[in-house]
Amino acid sequence: MSGSDIAGALRAFGCTVKEAEPMSAHTSFKIGGAAEYFVSTTDIIQAALILRYCSENQIPLLVMGNGSNLLVSDSGIDGVVLHIDASTIDVEGTRMTVQAGTSLIRTCLAACEHGLSGLEFAYGIPGTMGGGVYMNAGAYGGQLSDVVRSVTALTARGEVVELTAEQLAFGYRHSVLMEQPLTVWSVTMELKPDDPALIRSRMEEHMAARKAKQPLEYPSGGSFFKRPEGHFAGALIEQCGLKGFAVGGAQVSEKHAGFVINRGGATCADVMALCRQVQEQVKAKFDVSLEREVQLVGR
Ligand SMILES: Cc1cc2nc3c(=O)[nH]c(=O)nc-3n(C[C@H](O)[C@H](O)[C@H](O)COP(=O)(O)OP(=O)(O)OC[C@H]3O[C@@H](n4cnc5c(N)ncnc54)[C@H](O)[C@@H]3O)c2cc1C
Repeated sequence: MSGSDIAGALRAFGCTVKEAEPMSAHTSFKIGGAAEYFVSTTDIIQAALILRYCSENQIPLLVMGNGSNLLVSDSGIDGVVLHIDASTIDVEGTRMTVQAGTSLIRTCLAACEHGLSGLEFAYGIPGTMGGGVYMNAGAYGGQLSDVVRSVTALTARGEVVELTAEQLAFGYRHSVLMEQPLTVWSVTMELKPDDPALIRSRMEEHMAARKAKQPLEYPSGGSFFKRPEGHFAGALIEQCGLKGFAVGGAQVSEKHAGFVINRGGATCADVMALCRQVQEQVKAKFDVSLEREVQLVGR
Protein backbone atom coordinates (compact mmCIF):
# COMPACT_ATOMS: atom_id res chain seq x y z
CA MET A 1 0.00 0.00 0.00
CA SER A 2 1.43 3.39 -0.94
CA GLY A 3 1.94 6.21 1.53
CA SER A 4 -0.58 8.43 -0.20
CA ASP A 5 -3.21 5.64 0.09
CA ILE A 6 -2.69 5.49 3.86
CA ALA A 7 -2.75 9.26 4.34
CA GLY A 8 -5.80 9.47 2.05
CA ALA A 9 -7.68 6.77 3.97
CA LEU A 10 -6.95 8.46 7.29
CA ARG A 11 -8.12 11.79 5.90
CA ALA A 12 -11.31 10.13 4.63
CA PHE A 13 -12.06 9.27 8.29
CA GLY A 14 -11.93 13.01 9.01
CA CYS A 15 -8.46 12.99 10.60
CA THR A 16 -5.83 15.64 10.29
CA VAL A 17 -2.77 13.65 9.28
CA LYS A 18 0.75 14.82 9.99
CA GLU A 19 3.29 13.01 7.85
CA ALA A 20 6.92 12.50 8.96
CA GLU A 21 6.02 14.04 12.31
CA PRO A 22 9.00 14.29 14.71
CA MET A 23 8.19 12.30 17.83
CA SER A 24 10.61 14.44 19.83
CA ALA A 25 7.76 16.98 19.81
CA HIS A 26 5.37 14.48 21.43
CA THR A 27 7.48 12.83 24.15
CA SER A 28 8.55 14.13 27.55
CA PHE A 29 12.09 12.85 26.75
CA LYS A 30 12.14 15.16 23.68
CA ILE A 31 13.74 12.29 21.77
CA GLY A 32 12.62 10.35 18.73
CA GLY A 33 12.63 10.26 14.95
CA ALA A 34 9.61 10.79 12.75
CA ALA A 35 6.32 8.92 12.82
CA GLU A 36 5.22 8.11 9.28
CA TYR A 37 1.64 9.20 10.05
CA PHE A 38 0.56 10.98 13.24
CA VAL A 39 -3.15 11.47 13.99
CA SER A 40 -4.97 12.76 17.07
CA THR A 41 -8.55 11.90 17.84
CA THR A 42 -11.28 12.81 20.33
CA ASP A 43 -13.90 10.66 18.60
CA ILE A 44 -14.49 6.97 19.37
CA ILE A 45 -15.89 6.19 15.91
CA GLN A 46 -12.89 7.77 14.23
CA ALA A 47 -10.58 5.82 16.56
CA ALA A 48 -12.43 2.57 15.74
CA LEU A 49 -12.15 3.21 11.99
CA ILE A 50 -8.42 3.90 12.25
CA LEU A 51 -7.82 0.77 14.35
CA ARG A 52 -9.77 -1.42 11.94
CA TYR A 53 -8.12 0.08 8.88
CA CYS A 54 -4.63 -0.49 10.31
CA SER A 55 -5.48 -4.02 11.39
CA GLU A 56 -7.05 -4.99 8.04
CA ASN A 57 -4.12 -3.57 6.09
CA GLN A 58 -1.37 -4.79 8.46
CA ILE A 59 -0.19 -1.24 9.09
CA PRO A 60 1.81 -0.93 12.33
CA LEU A 61 0.01 1.18 14.91
CA LEU A 62 1.12 2.79 18.15
CA VAL A 63 -1.50 4.24 20.49
CA MET A 64 -0.22 6.99 22.73
CA GLY A 65 -1.30 9.45 25.37
CA ASN A 66 1.05 12.14 26.60
CA GLY A 67 4.29 10.40 25.60
CA SER A 68 5.64 10.61 29.16
CA ASN A 69 6.71 6.98 29.30
CA LEU A 70 7.98 6.57 25.74
CA LEU A 71 11.49 6.39 24.36
CA VAL A 72 11.18 6.58 20.57
CA SER A 73 13.88 5.23 18.27
CA ASP A 74 16.04 7.76 16.41
CA SER A 75 14.90 6.15 13.14
CA GLY A 76 11.28 6.89 13.96
CA ILE A 77 8.12 4.81 13.84
CA ASP A 78 6.65 2.87 10.93
CA GLY A 79 2.96 3.23 10.24
CA VAL A 80 0.44 5.20 12.29
CA VAL A 81 0.78 6.85 15.69
CA LEU A 82 -2.69 7.37 17.14
CA HIS A 83 -2.79 10.01 19.85
CA ILE A 84 -5.88 9.64 22.07
CA ASP A 85 -7.02 13.14 22.95
CA ALA A 86 -10.58 12.54 24.25
CA SER A 87 -10.83 14.17 27.66
CA THR A 88 -14.28 14.43 29.18
CA ILE A 89 -14.83 13.82 32.90
CA ASP A 90 -18.16 12.60 34.34
CA VAL A 91 -18.86 12.33 38.04
CA GLU A 92 -21.82 10.44 39.51
CA GLY A 93 -21.71 10.18 43.29
CA THR A 94 -18.40 8.52 44.10
CA ARG A 95 -17.91 7.16 40.56
CA MET A 96 -15.79 9.05 38.11
CA THR A 97 -15.60 8.16 34.41
CA VAL A 98 -12.78 9.80 32.54
CA GLN A 99 -11.84 9.57 28.87
CA ALA A 100 -8.43 8.10 28.16
CA GLY A 101 -6.78 11.30 26.91
CA THR A 102 -7.54 13.21 30.12
CA SER A 103 -4.38 14.15 31.98
CA LEU A 104 -3.92 12.50 35.35
CA ILE A 105 -3.31 15.93 36.86
CA ARG A 106 -6.65 17.28 35.59
CA THR A 107 -8.37 14.11 36.78
CA CYS A 108 -6.91 14.56 40.28
CA LEU A 109 -8.01 18.21 40.37
CA ALA A 110 -11.56 17.25 39.30
CA ALA A 111 -11.73 14.52 41.96
CA CYS A 112 -10.61 17.03 44.59
CA GLU A 113 -13.18 19.57 43.44
CA HIS A 114 -15.91 16.95 43.91
CA GLY A 115 -14.58 15.97 47.34
CA LEU A 116 -13.44 12.54 46.11
CA SER A 117 -10.35 10.91 47.56
CA GLY A 118 -8.19 8.05 46.26
CA LEU A 119 -6.26 9.69 43.43
CA GLU A 120 -4.01 12.02 45.44
CA PHE A 121 -0.97 9.81 44.72
CA ALA A 122 -1.28 10.51 40.98
CA TYR A 123 -1.09 14.30 41.29
CA GLY A 124 2.02 15.25 39.33
CA ILE A 125 2.30 12.14 37.13
CA PRO A 126 2.53 13.77 33.69
CA GLY A 127 0.58 11.09 31.75
CA THR A 128 -3.01 10.47 30.68
CA MET A 129 -5.61 8.09 32.11
CA GLY A 130 -5.08 5.73 29.14
CA GLY A 131 -1.31 5.57 29.55
CA GLY A 132 -1.78 5.42 33.32
CA VAL A 133 -4.03 2.36 33.16
CA TYR A 134 -1.75 0.69 30.60
CA MET A 135 1.21 1.08 33.01
CA ASN A 136 -0.81 0.86 36.24
CA ALA A 137 0.86 4.14 37.15
CA GLY A 138 1.57 4.67 40.81
CA ALA A 139 3.44 6.70 43.38
CA TYR A 140 3.56 7.40 47.12
CA GLY A 141 1.97 4.08 48.06
CA GLY A 142 -0.93 4.28 45.59
CA GLN A 143 -1.55 2.93 42.11
CA LEU A 144 -4.41 3.23 39.64
CA SER A 145 -5.48 -0.36 40.26
CA ASP A 146 -6.59 0.76 43.77
CA VAL A 147 -9.41 2.82 42.25
CA VAL A 148 -10.09 1.58 38.69
CA ARG A 149 -13.28 -0.50 38.48
CA SER A 150 -13.67 -0.90 34.70
CA VAL A 151 -12.40 0.25 31.34
CA THR A 152 -14.12 0.77 28.01
CA ALA A 153 -11.69 -0.20 25.28
CA LEU A 154 -11.51 -0.77 21.54
CA THR A 155 -10.18 -3.97 20.05
CA ALA A 156 -7.79 -3.98 17.10
CA ARG A 157 -10.85 -4.42 14.87
CA GLY A 158 -12.53 -1.37 16.38
CA GLU A 159 -15.12 -3.20 18.49
CA VAL A 160 -16.06 -1.70 21.86
CA VAL A 161 -15.42 -3.98 24.85
CA GLU A 162 -15.77 -3.54 28.62
CA LEU A 163 -13.10 -4.88 30.95
CA THR A 164 -13.50 -5.30 34.68
CA ALA A 165 -10.65 -4.58 37.09
CA GLU A 166 -10.07 -8.35 37.36
CA GLN A 167 -9.82 -8.69 33.59
CA LEU A 168 -7.28 -5.87 33.52
CA ALA A 169 -4.96 -8.17 35.54
CA PHE A 170 -3.10 -5.31 37.18
CA GLY A 171 0.31 -5.84 38.73
CA TYR A 172 3.24 -3.61 39.55
CA ARG A 173 3.54 -1.32 36.47
CA HIS A 174 1.62 -3.94 34.54
CA SER A 175 -1.83 -4.53 33.04
CA VAL A 176 -3.31 -6.92 30.51
CA LEU A 177 -3.12 -4.06 27.97
CA MET A 178 0.60 -4.83 27.66
CA GLU A 179 -0.30 -8.23 26.24
CA GLN A 180 -3.41 -7.49 24.17
CA PRO A 181 -3.91 -4.92 21.44
CA LEU A 182 -6.62 -2.95 23.26
CA THR A 183 -7.02 0.82 23.19
CA VAL A 184 -8.39 2.35 26.38
CA TRP A 185 -11.20 4.75 25.61
CA SER A 186 -12.54 5.54 29.08
CA VAL A 187 -11.88 4.56 32.65
CA THR A 188 -14.35 4.28 35.53
CA MET A 189 -13.05 4.71 39.07
CA GLU A 190 -14.62 4.35 42.49
CA LEU A 191 -13.44 7.01 44.95
CA LYS A 192 -14.27 7.90 48.56
CA PRO A 193 -15.87 11.09 49.84
CA ASP A 194 -13.53 13.36 51.83
CA ASP A 195 -12.95 17.01 52.65
CA PRO A 196 -11.61 18.79 49.52
CA ALA A 197 -9.20 20.82 51.67
CA LEU A 198 -7.62 17.62 53.05
CA ILE A 199 -7.47 16.05 49.58
CA ARG A 200 -5.84 19.21 48.25
CA SER A 201 -3.22 19.28 50.99
CA ARG A 202 -2.26 15.63 50.33
CA MET A 203 -1.98 16.40 46.61
CA GLU A 204 0.19 19.45 47.28
CA GLU A 205 2.41 17.41 49.60
CA HIS A 206 3.06 14.90 46.81
CA MET A 207 3.71 17.65 44.27
CA ALA A 208 6.19 19.32 46.63
CA ALA A 209 8.00 16.00 47.15
CA ARG A 210 8.25 15.55 43.35
CA LYS A 211 9.64 19.05 42.87
CA ALA A 212 12.18 18.52 45.66
CA LYS A 213 13.41 15.09 44.52
CA GLN A 214 12.91 14.81 40.76
CA PRO A 215 14.88 16.54 37.98
CA LEU A 216 11.74 18.16 36.54
CA GLU A 217 13.83 20.89 34.92
CA TYR A 218 15.11 18.36 32.33
CA PRO A 219 13.26 16.25 29.75
CA SER A 220 12.97 12.61 30.87
CA GLY A 221 10.65 9.63 30.91
CA GLY A 222 10.34 9.61 34.71
CA SER A 223 11.81 6.66 36.64
CA PHE A 224 13.78 4.86 33.97
CA PHE A 225 13.84 1.44 35.64
CA LYS A 226 11.21 -0.54 37.50
CA ARG A 227 11.73 -1.02 41.22
CA PRO A 228 13.56 -4.34 41.62
CA GLU A 229 12.10 -6.46 44.40
CA GLY A 230 13.61 -5.51 47.76
CA HIS A 231 15.59 -2.56 46.35
CA PHE A 232 15.28 0.93 44.88
CA ALA A 233 16.79 1.31 41.40
CA GLY A 234 18.02 4.86 42.16
CA ALA A 235 19.86 3.76 45.32
CA LEU A 236 21.61 0.86 43.54
CA ILE A 237 22.65 3.13 40.65
CA GLU A 238 23.94 5.76 43.09
CA GLN A 239 25.91 3.14 45.04
CA CYS A 240 27.63 2.17 41.78
CA GLY A 241 28.89 5.76 41.61
CA LEU A 242 26.84 6.42 38.49
CA LYS A 243 25.10 9.67 39.49
CA GLY A 244 25.95 12.13 36.73
CA PHE A 245 27.29 9.36 34.42
CA ALA A 246 26.63 10.43 30.83
CA VAL A 247 26.62 9.03 27.31
CA GLY A 248 26.28 11.79 24.72
CA GLY A 249 23.33 13.94 25.76
CA ALA A 250 21.87 11.30 28.11
CA GLN A 251 22.77 11.43 31.78
CA VAL A 252 21.92 9.68 35.04
CA SER A 253 20.36 12.59 36.93
CA GLU A 254 22.55 14.11 39.64
CA LYS A 255 19.37 14.90 41.57
CA HIS A 256 17.78 11.43 41.42
CA ALA A 257 19.76 8.48 40.07
CA GLY A 258 16.56 6.65 39.11
CA PHE A 259 15.99 9.22 36.35
CA VAL A 260 17.79 9.32 33.01
CA ILE A 261 17.60 12.88 31.70
CA ASN A 262 18.10 14.45 28.31
CA ARG A 263 20.59 17.18 29.23
CA GLY A 264 20.49 18.48 25.65
CA GLY A 265 20.58 16.79 22.26
CA ALA A 266 20.31 13.22 23.60
CA THR A 267 19.46 10.51 21.10
CA CYS A 268 17.65 7.28 21.76
CA ALA A 269 20.96 5.51 21.05
CA ASP A 270 22.64 7.58 23.82
CA VAL A 271 19.90 6.66 26.30
CA MET A 272 20.04 2.96 25.41
CA ALA A 273 23.87 2.83 25.61
CA LEU A 274 23.69 4.50 29.02
CA CYS A 275 20.91 2.13 30.09
CA ARG A 276 23.00 -0.93 29.16
CA GLN A 277 26.03 0.31 31.08
CA VAL A 278 23.93 1.05 34.17
CA GLN A 279 22.31 -2.40 33.96
CA GLU A 280 25.71 -4.10 33.60
CA GLN A 281 27.27 -2.27 36.55
CA VAL A 282 24.30 -2.84 38.85
CA LYS A 283 24.24 -6.52 37.88
CA ALA A 284 28.00 -6.87 38.49
CA LYS A 285 27.93 -5.13 41.89
CA PHE A 286 24.60 -6.28 43.36
CA ASP A 287 23.52 -9.21 41.15
CA VAL A 288 20.26 -7.34 40.52
CA SER A 289 18.77 -7.10 37.01
CA LEU A 290 17.24 -3.70 36.33
CA GLU A 291 14.26 -3.81 34.00
CA ARG A 292 13.32 -0.77 31.95
CA GLU A 293 10.05 0.93 32.92
CA VAL A 294 10.16 3.37 30.00
CA GLN A 295 8.68 1.81 26.85
CA LEU A 296 11.06 1.64 23.89
CA VAL A 297 9.15 1.98 20.60
CA GLY A 298 9.88 2.46 16.92
CA ARG A 299 12.16 1.07 14.24
C1 LIG B 1 8.76 13.63 35.28
C2 LIG B 1 8.02 12.32 35.22
C3 LIG B 1 7.52 11.77 36.38
C4 LIG B 1 6.83 10.54 36.35
N1 LIG B 1 6.34 10.03 37.51
C5 LIG B 1 5.69 8.83 37.49
C6 LIG B 1 5.19 8.25 38.69
O1 LIG B 1 5.31 8.80 39.77
N2 LIG B 1 4.55 7.05 38.59
C7 LIG B 1 4.38 6.40 37.40
O2 LIG B 1 3.78 5.32 37.38
N3 LIG B 1 4.84 6.94 36.25
C8 LIG B 1 5.49 8.13 36.26
N4 LIG B 1 5.95 8.66 35.09
C9 LIG B 1 5.79 7.92 33.83
C10 LIG B 1 4.51 8.25 33.03
O3 LIG B 1 4.05 9.57 33.30
C11 LIG B 1 3.40 7.26 33.36
O4 LIG B 1 3.77 5.94 33.04
C12 LIG B 1 2.10 7.59 32.60
O5 LIG B 1 1.09 6.77 33.07
C13 LIG B 1 2.22 7.43 31.08
O6 LIG B 1 1.07 8.00 30.49
P1 LIG B 1 1.11 8.62 29.02
O7 LIG B 1 -0.25 9.09 28.69
O8 LIG B 1 2.18 9.65 28.93
O9 LIG B 1 1.47 7.35 28.18
P2 LIG B 1 2.43 7.25 26.89
O10 LIG B 1 3.83 7.56 27.30
O11 LIG B 1 1.86 8.03 25.78
O12 LIG B 1 2.32 5.70 26.59
C14 LIG B 1 2.84 4.77 27.49
C15 LIG B 1 2.32 3.37 27.10
O13 LIG B 1 0.91 3.36 27.27
C16 LIG B 1 0.26 3.00 26.06
N5 LIG B 1 -0.98 3.78 25.97
C17 LIG B 1 -1.10 5.13 26.09
N6 LIG B 1 -2.40 5.48 25.96
C18 LIG B 1 -3.10 4.34 25.75
C19 LIG B 1 -4.47 4.04 25.53
N7 LIG B 1 -5.41 4.99 25.49
N8 LIG B 1 -4.83 2.75 25.35
C20 LIG B 1 -3.91 1.76 25.38
N9 LIG B 1 -2.59 1.99 25.57
C21 LIG B 1 -2.20 3.26 25.76
C22 LIG B 1 1.25 3.34 24.96
O14 LIG B 1 1.04 2.54 23.81
C23 LIG B 1 2.59 3.05 25.63
O15 LIG B 1 2.91 1.69 25.53
C24 LIG B 1 6.63 9.88 35.10
C25 LIG B 1 7.12 10.47 33.93
C26 LIG B 1 7.81 11.67 33.97
C27 LIG B 1 8.31 12.27 32.70
